[in-house]
Amino acid sequence: MKQNPTSEKAFHAVSVSGGKDSTALLLMMLERNMPIDCVLWADTGMEFPEMYRHIARLDQTLFAERGLHITKLKHPKGFEWLMFDEPKTKPTAIQRRVENGLPLTGNGWPGIAVRWCTGQLKTHLISKAVNQIKGKYRALHYVGIAYDERKRCKSEVYPLVEWHITEAQALAYCYAHGYDWDGLYEIYHRCSCWCCPFQRISELRKLRTHHPELWQKLLRMDERAVQMFGTTPLGTFRKGYTVQTLDQRFAEEERST
Ligand code: SF4
Repeated sequence: MKQNPTSEKAFHAVSVSGGKDSTALLLMMLERNMPIDCVLWADTGMEFPEMYRHIARLDQTLFAERGLHITKLKHPKGFEWLMFDEPKTKPTAIQRRVENGLPLTGNGWPGIAVRWCTGQLKTHLISKAVNQIKGKYRALHYVGIAYDERKRCKSEVYPLVEWHITEAQALAYCYAHGYDWDGLYEIYHRCSCWCCPFQRISELRKLRTHHPELWQKLLRMDERAVQMFGTTPLGTFRKGYTVQTLDQRFAEEERST
């Protein structure tokens, strides 16, 4: 929606996920002395411990260089509340749940049809904050999309695309500047929510090996989802698999190698 700012003053907002591209963007903007008025980060509550340490480090750098702290945006109740406890309020939704013998709370595992998590835990929070800024200022919103992902660009500002910085170059730049996520990118292809049902099976196999405590937590979440929603899509971690069946598959693979 078009905003009518109350001030003509330019305001420079950078949003970061903590991943390699947005980290490289922020570091490059600092290095190039570009104006930065705020840095927004949406915390899903399900980030890897290494990612929380990385964000804390980025925050220290930002504060040391610009006297700014990262603005953390977080859903007041979080992933598990949305998954298990959010009450259904719409009469049609309640009726559907009753007809299907399903509980009147919780959204279950995010799925292709209802990917509730990205919106509720990330994009709505960032858009709300950016729209508030756009209501007050002539705001520029900088987003860290790499050159090879440029088809994802919409109507914000994408300096990495402008500078032809690819994903590989973004990661190399972060490493060269001492940001290594404690090795997270050497294990995983992607470093967003550890509980994401959309990640590759190979990533889940690595989660079980490298982060067994998170894997145990995933098993507990899965058990609760199955108890509440059974074999419906809401209770199914990903098509054809619960976390329990994946655990058995990985254990079997280990025994046979
Ligand atoms: S990483 Fe996965 S679980 Fe997390 S918000 Fe994105 S789609 Fe949802």
